[in-house]
Amino acid sequence: MSLEIHLVKGRDKSVRRKHPWIFSRGIARVVGEPALGETVDVFAHNGEWLGKAAYSPHSQIRARMWSFGDKKQNIDVDFFIQRVQQAQLLRDDIIERDGLTGYRLIAAESDGLPGITIDKYDNFLVCQLLSAGAEFQKQALVDALVHCYPDCSIYERSDVAIRKKEGLTERTGVLHGDAPQQPVIIEENGIKISVDIINGHKTGFYLDQRDSRNQAQKYVKDKEVLNCFSYTGGFGLYALKGGASRVINADVSQPALDTARSNAEMNGFKGKQAVFLNADVFKLLREYRDQGTKFDVVIMDPPKFADSKAQLNGACRGYKDINMLAMQILKPGGTLLTYSCSGLMDQNLFQKIIADAAIDANRSVKFVERFEQAADHPTDTAYPEGFYLKGFACRVM
Ligand code: SAH
Repeated sequence: MSLEIHLVKGRDKSVRRKHPWIFSRGIARVVGEPALGETVDVFAHNGEWLGKAAYSPHSQIRARMWSFGDKKQNIDVDFFIQRVQQAQLLRDDIIERDGLTGYRLIAAESDGLPGITIDKYDNFLVCQLLSAGAEFQKQALVDALVHCYPDCSIYERSDVAIRKKEGLTERTGVLHGDAPQQPVIIEENGIKISVDIINGHKTGFYLDQRDSRNQAQKYVKDKEVLNCFSYTGGFGLYALKGGASRVINADVSQPALDTARSNAEMNGFKGKQAVFLNADVFKLLREYRDQGTKFDVVIMDPPKFADSKAQLNGACRGYKDINMLAMQILKPGGTLLTYSCSGLMDQNLFQKIIADAAIDANRSVKFVERFEQAADHPTDTAYPEGFYLKGFACRVM
């Protein structure tokens, strides 16, 4: 019995442009009874076959395209081997250039594997499966990974609330090989970083900020740096390597700060040069402002403030607030390195928010450099939503 979805007239346009999402309102008719995540053939209104997709009966995004235009392509272990090999090939250059033992191997839709994120930390592959299709294909994916990386263990970190929308529950645990010997140490740009695969945020580390961390080094020599939302100290480590005289790392997570401290020690940075503060950044910035404490450089890398369009206005206020405060505690001529990982906030909107913050802080501010997510988080031309992380270096007069 064939499993098919037939699109509403005109709704084939985005599929023909190779966008992977098909929304429920774009589907005219379903043939057969595809199970949660099962593969279906996708047809245009005129009956033309377009490709294969995973069916998500509970989600607004009702189907996600696995492949376009190749009828013989089954969605099986070989398919996943091909996609994984392509993704690895795309990253080989930067892995060598930046000396990486930790990198994003599969960036979901951007690597042609909707709902599947895989980060490689040394000999561990950590998978996050977010869609019904990803879940349905789990065994094929694991088999493909074992084929491509026979020496690696595979661990699942699908503990994300968004799985509910797909009709899935949260899950973590070993998928293949050994349980992680904690912590796993990775290296990037000559810096060692300890990654907690089991309890860390997301899959353990924010690989996406690697290029921005690297760029940050040129702004910090002999400077006093405040690293807000430090997590395990990523930006702080690069700042110390770049010659900062002192770095204050601030975060609300004590386990993250403990790792940040051991990361600093592991890289040979000891003593008063590195400070670790368990503090709410919103409060801390106000305290510094009210006390008149000033910095040469402020790094502002908050968590995602907007998960949906409904949250975007509130997110804008949050970004404006912290960036205004950061400007207020910078010495004249100081540098603000500021980022937003909210995909719903595009670069222009983020730039406007920084401009508003400058007005409110009553400072003259120049954009001197722009940043984006690291190269192992590529954006496919067919899927602009894959571009989510942007940042600015600003000179604050
Ligand atoms: N810059 C980091 C990633 C930051 S992720 C890196 O390069 O690795 C965001 C961090 O913000 C998390 O560690 C989280 O614990 C922290 N956080 C969230 N809300 C906070 C708040 N109000 N004050 C301080 N830290 C906060």
